[in-house]
Amino acid sequence: RRWHSAEAPFEHLNPVTEQDVQQFASILPPSSVLSTLPPSSTAASELDQYNNDWMGKYHGKSTTVLKPKTTQQVSDIVKLCWERRIGIVPQGGNTGLVGGSVPIHDEVVVNLSNMNKVRSFDPVSGILVADAGCILQSLTDYIAPHHHIMPLDLGAKGSCHIGGNVATNAGGLRLLRYGSLHGSVLGIEVVLPDGTILDQLTSLRKDNTGYDLKQLFIGAEGTLGIITGVSILTPPAPQASNNVILALPHFDNVLPLYKEVKRQLSEILSAFEFIDRTAYDLAVKHGQGRGLTEEEVDGAQCFVLVETSGGRRDHDEEKLNDLLESLLGADQPLITNGVLSQSPAQFSSLWSLREGVTEAVSKEGKAYKYDISVPLSTFKQVVDVTRDHLRSKGLLHDGAVKHVIGYGHVGDGNLHLNVIAEQYTDEIQDALEPFIYELVASHRGSISAEHGIGAMKTHALHFSKSDVSIALMKQIKQLFDPRGIMNPGKPIFQDLNGLAIK
Ligand code: FAD
Repeated sequence: RRWHSAEAPFEHLNPVTEQDVQQFASILPPSSVLSTLPPSSTAASELDQYNNDWMGKYHGKSTTVLKPKTTQQVSDIVKLCWERRIGIVPQGGNTGLVGGSVPIHDEVVVNLSNMNKVRSFDPVSGILVADAGCILQSLTDYIAPHHHIMPLDLGAKGSCHIGGNVATNAGGLRLLRYGSLHGSVLGIEVVLPDGTILDQLTSLRKDNTGYDLKQLFIGAEGTLGIITGVSILTPPAPQASNNVILALPHFDNVLPLYKEVKRQLSEILSAFEFIDRTAYDLAVKHGQGRGLTEEEVDGAQCFVLVETSGGRRDHDEEKLNDLLESLLGADQPLITNGVLSQSPAQFSSLWSLREGVTEAVSKEGKAYKYDISVPLSTFKQVVDVTRDHLRSKGLLHDGAVKHVIGYGHVGDGNLHLNVIAEQYTDEIQDALEPFIYELVASHRGSISAEHGIGAMKTHALHFSKSDVSIALMKQIKQLFDPRGIMNPGKPIFQDLNGLAIK
């Protein structure tokens, strides 16, 4: 039997006691210890924002949230939890979409938002070293005057932390151009589960001195330690960025369009994002960006947002205009319409139509989110098959499932399949799982392209990872965290033999 996270065994862990809170208060200033236990006196409602996830789907019962300011404070807290065998949930901006950032039971939340200082920036190399709790948007703003940009961008940029980004190996909207964090993160500083500080905060582009340990923490979802600092390579800001939204009459046109766009735009193509018609309609309905006119969207089954970033505005504009002209003038056009942004405001507005889908979905209802990698040619089929399946179960109607939508990062083969319902119910959950995971496995895809496993997909890891891989992952977890205190129950279950409290 495979465990669901909520059923994961926690007998090896101790709850926080009043004495523990006293000890935490000797490490941190009073304002950084939020606890419903004496000597602290925080109201339970004040902990809601740390106990509940962004989607309102996962709910923890932590009595205590700690907000350290320095790496040493993190280390001291973790040492105490290690000795006392208290579970810890590392938390950044709490924007994760798989329930990884909130407790399953009453683990202590270590929230990094007070660790928010830039440590250094080298405008020549573009290497930025920052505390893990820096918000992605604030780092973007910090380096903008130096004409650099962060190598990643995502809809949650106003809240998510760079540490959370690294812990989830976040993908986002720039992966097509700048690659994954496994490439751009040069070094990290981590507090290990026993409190030891691992300082790998190097700023070297090249360093082949044995195992590249930092890679293990990128995407580990807080299970191997708490990331406290990040060194990251930031690319020069493009001199010119432009975007266009293309309306397509059929999904079947997405692939040939992608090929054509890559051929014509080549080095200046920086994003190629897909939104199906329902996702687009929801974005417009919930005020995410300025919608196109009725005429512009007439007959469109889906949309693609193309972004270019390059070194010379006139050169890039010419290429984009040529592309549009050739697409619209073709004998059998792949698109019905294309709207080119004409101003910075319009550029942002077109992006909002794509970036705002996540927000729109959360306003529309309760979302079951499946962030999957499948072959591009199957994107539509996966959405349609899921919709048909829910219909066959009698669940596609008012009061149950409202919409099944698909959008995502075409350039990375990453589809966000969202099922939007009135409420989270066991009936819908059982209809969706393992159905979707089996569907993904049948296409040899990944059940998590970029959001991670968290508490949501722990029981489904075997659909994407072999037994050999899972066994190795468990050994790695055991090596780093033999007491099983770091983000317990996610995203793999440790072999708990010998972990019971003696
Ligand atoms: P949290 O949500 O706080 O934590 C996420 C996980 O990382 C948890 O397991 C937590 O324990 C761990 N963690 C956090 N901080 C640390 C740390 N310092 N050390 C160790 N572990 C830590 N994701 C994408 O990949 N691409 C997208 O395009 C994208 N778009 C999004 C759009 C919206 C509107 C929203 C709400 C979310 C989106 N996400 C996306 C998901 C989410 O924003 C990312 O996963 C983000 O990287 C999480 O960062 P965070 O600081 O909020 O981390």
